[in-house]
Amino acid sequence: MAPTVDPNGRGYRILYRQGETNYCPGCGHANWYIGRHAAECAFCATVLPLGASTHKEPEYALAG
Ligand SMILES: [Zn+2]
Repeated sequence: MAPTVDPNGRGYRILYRQGETNYCPGCGHANWYIGRHAAECAFCATVLPLGASTHKEPEYALAG
C-alpha cells in the first residue's frame, strides 16, 4: 500500500504571494504592510506569512 502524497493538497494555507495581488481573507482589501517574514493587512491587521520568495539574494556580491 503506497501512501498517497499530494503536495498540492496538504491542507488549506493562505500565503502572501509576493509580486501578485493578494486580497485579504478578512476584509477583501489588497493593501499590505510587507515585513521580512509576514504581510499585515493595512485595514484589518490580518497577518499572512510570506510565500516563497521569488528572488534569491546572492551570498556574496564582490565588486569587480
Ligand atoms: Zn484585511
